[in-house]
Amino acid sequence: MAAITMKNIVKTYGDGFQAVKDINLEIADGEFMILVGPSGCGKSTLLRMIVGLEDISGGEMLIGDERVNEKAPRDRNLAMVFQNYALYPHLTVFENIAFPLRLAKTPDAEVKERVNHAAELLELTEHLERKPANLSGGQRQRVAMGRAIVRNAQAFLFDEPLSNLDAKLRGQMRTEISRLQKRLGITTVYVTHDQVEAMTLGDRVAVLRAGVLQQVDSPRRLYQNPANLFVAGFIGSPPMNFIPATVTDDGLSTPFGDIQLPPGRSVDLSGKEIVLLGARPESFEDADVVSDTVREHGMVFDAQIDVIEWLGNEQYAYVPYEAPEQIRQQLADLERELDSEAMRTQLVVSLDASSQIEESSTASVWMDLRQVHVFDPGTGENLT
Ligand code: ATP
Repeated sequence: MAAITMKNIVKTYGDGFQAVKDINLEIADGEFMILVGPSGCGKSTLLRMIVGLEDISGGEMLIGDERVNEKAPRDRNLAMVFQNYALYPHLTVFENIAFPLRLAKTPDAEVKERVNHAAELLELTEHLERKPANLSGGQRQRVAMGRAIVRNAQAFLFDEPLSNLDAKLRGQMRTEISRLQKRLGITTVYVTHDQVEAMTLGDRVAVLRAGVLQQVDSPRRLYQNPANLFVAGFIGSPPMNFIPATVTDDGLSTPFGDIQLPPGRSVDLSGKEIVLLGARPESFEDADVVSDTVREHGMVFDAQIDVIEWLGNEQYAYVPYEAPEQIRQQLADLERELDSEAMRTQLVVSLDASSQIEESSTASVWMDLRQVHVFDPGTGENLT
């Protein structure tokens, strides 16, 4: 196993398009790193450069202490697990796992020992004589990983391995990959555009946008301390609300009322006229279900409730509002990228399942100010 280090990595395609821009990233030995971002952000390109399927235009790629820029894929000793697992349908599970060893002309006795060992680790011993067609999706995935294990690969690389599966199977496989990775402790890089996978699988998540690394952090920190508007809008579903606010002498003026940021959230607003107040749906609540002691940590306002979605354990209420034109334009690009129309036109508010708030009514809603973020709408930076 080995660490993977990227130093100032650049990828420029033949047509001059820079798909990856100056990436610096260290993936520790044994770490599970997720590369996530919207379509076209460069995550697959980056993975393909690690494995050697794509030339590196600039910078240095190290596996362990060794520079691999010029090394052929087969000499990097990494195992790429593809979406379709690339299993041979006419071979048994045993021979599928043994395949790289057969290619390397490994003696029979050793093949047997290594395949049996991998099968044990992966709980495939009972299935060694089956063909891939007679396996579940999860078992096929394990066979593909088995092939990597017998080679003693230094790292697993996954490129959207679950994107063709239905939601239920995807959930099961996610748990399976996570369990196996922990058990094997092998360095893993996993590309996805699915933020649920990103948040649940990785030790750390690297968020990419247009070839530029936005933030590398644990899922929890990404969620709680997003570095900028992009990360804040990308991580979390429904996404964070961005409420335009005018800076006043003693706080912020928003379409829902005036706000004074609590001590823990205060920021230097000197020289700023307009900011965006970021509040996740769960930072809101039906004011009637919030206790008095909790209520004082936030602001209560009248919300014009449009539609309510009841999800059993919670409810989402939609509160349309008009944002100033200047802000709408600034958010339009970000919305397009995040495939969300909602940011500048409505609040999404999560209410307790017990809330009696009704559709098409005016309701008293509480906003928790202890968890809000303040963003610079120009640079996108989280000022909190
Ligand atoms: P997706 O989730 O859609 O697969 P991605 O984040 O993995 O997206 P990449 O496949 O890494 O994105 O592509 C990054 C950018 O590089 C895209 O804008 C893509 O159009 C461009 N690109 C990819 N391959 C080539 C190529 N061979 N020549 C020119 N541009 C390319």
